[in-house]
Amino acid sequence: MRKKIVAGNWKMNLTLAEGEQLVNDILAAGINLPEDQAVVIAPPFPYVQKVKQLTRNYPGIFVAAQNCASEKSGAYTGEVSAAMLASVGIDYVILGHSERREYFSETNAQLAKKIDQVLANGLKPIFCCGEPLEVRQAETQNAYVAKQLEESLYHLDAEALKNVVIAYEPIWAIGTGLTASAQQAQDMHAFIRAQIAAKYGREAALGLSILYGGSAKPSNAAELFACPDVDGGLIGGASLVAADFTAIIKSL
Ligand code: PEP
Repeated sequence: MRKKIVAGNWKMNLTLAEGEQLVNDILAAGINLPEDQAVVIAPPFPYVQKVKQLTRNYPGIFVAAQNCASEKSGAYTGEVSAAMLASVGIDYVILGHSERREYFSETNAQLAKKIDQVLANGLKPIFCCGEPLEVRQAETQNAYVAKQLEESLYHLDAEALKNVVIAYEPIWAIGTGLTASAQQAQDMHAFIRAQIAAKYGREAALGLSILYGGSAKPSNAAELFACPDVDGGLIGGASLVAADFTAIIKSL
């Protein structure tokens, strides 16, 4: 049975004190996660250890980094390796967020290397894919996403793929207030699952968690999560507000 996951991406927001308060408020909300559900919190790098420490007694709550280096180690000033993240107990790494692709020119090929680093260090990548508005308007989103999957993931074998989570995030819906309709989300998630089935087989596809991201909030989360191929969400803005984030988790 694949996991249902709600992941919160804080991006470059909050001081350490604000982050601690947010985590404590989320924990105080008394979320009871059944075995097949998980919550992932992705704070900025300097806070990952603190958030790990605050959540360590809460089964089902995990910590992610928002990025990592594509190289193993060495003279890469300012970079953080997957091995470093593993050494401080981090569980997941978000890779290929559209903001990383757009502002830091991350390519599908570079992301393939990052995925290898993450998996080699026993962490799980949350691999983001999704199309820009002009691609959606041209109705070529399936080919666009298929290429992202092919160029960043398809070098993996079926065993490695078991540790991958995919987040479908249409760029036109991120931080814009525009959400993909439940039907649009379901259609793309079903397409992604079919692509994975074609490459890795039905069992691998059925075991894969595919999250939706893009202006998900308490008012639309339940409808999105009710779609058969939507296995939870990657949440940006609403993950910064404890009441909103916990309401979204409860929508699982
Ligand atoms: C995101 O950045 O991954 C995201 C989905 O942001 P928001 O929820 O704010 O649209």
